Amino acid sequence: MDIDLCGPSMPRIFGVENEQVHLSGSGWSPVYVEENLCVMSIGFLLKGPKEAVIWRGPKKNGLIKQFLKDVDWGELDYLLIDTPPGTSDEHMSIVQYLQDTNLEGAVIITTPQETALLDVRKEINFCEKVKLRVLGVVENMSVFVCPKCKVSTEIFPPTTGGAQRMAEEMNVPFLGKIPLNSQIGKFCDEGQIDRNFPSRECFETITESILQRMKK
Ligand SMILES: [Zn+2]
Repeated sequence: MDIDLCGPSMPRIFGVENEQVHLSGSGWSPVYVEENLCVMSIGFLLKGPKEAVIWRGPKKNGLIKQFLKDVDWGELDYLLIDTPPGTSDEHMSIVQYLQDTNLEGAVIITTPQETALLDVRKEINFCEKVKLRVLGVVENMSVFVCPKCKVSTEIFPPTTGGAQRMAEEMNVPFLGKIPLNSQIGKFCDEGQIDRNFPSRECFETITESILQRMKK
């Protein structure tokens, strides 16, 4: 469920950009990427990829509520909610609407440099305030390994120790790093979420630790 209402990227990443949601007797049917994976995004409701969503809070909240109430999700094992960065209307509404469910927690994604970590510390504090467990922090675009000479470069230098140190300081779990691999961007742009996905093992390790933490 993509609640990044102003920048919905899930349809593109999952390669279903030109699909539409249909209204049936049981509600909106989400778009199926595979038999066991479906997506709902405002991207499916826009006239085209360039159309801008210029909405204030109440209208955003209304759509988020509709995504929860009016989408025929069927039986789900997991509902993953992709939010925009920050601590704004989208975050407040989704936590509020799901407060009586067994919401497992938040996974926070950051890049290594301090300007990003500054915002992430606020996001962790937000979670504390709304009593949402932080399942952990992931460091994205961590290190660039040159595909030609294999030399590692820190494109976003972790001047304050990166996400791992920040997680220790804030007393939240660190889930792992995803390298800055140009192939990841390419695969996402092309909507190729498949077995050949670059740095696949990093994603699998991180997913495994999230699942472990959810059991606790
Ligand atoms: Zn090189």
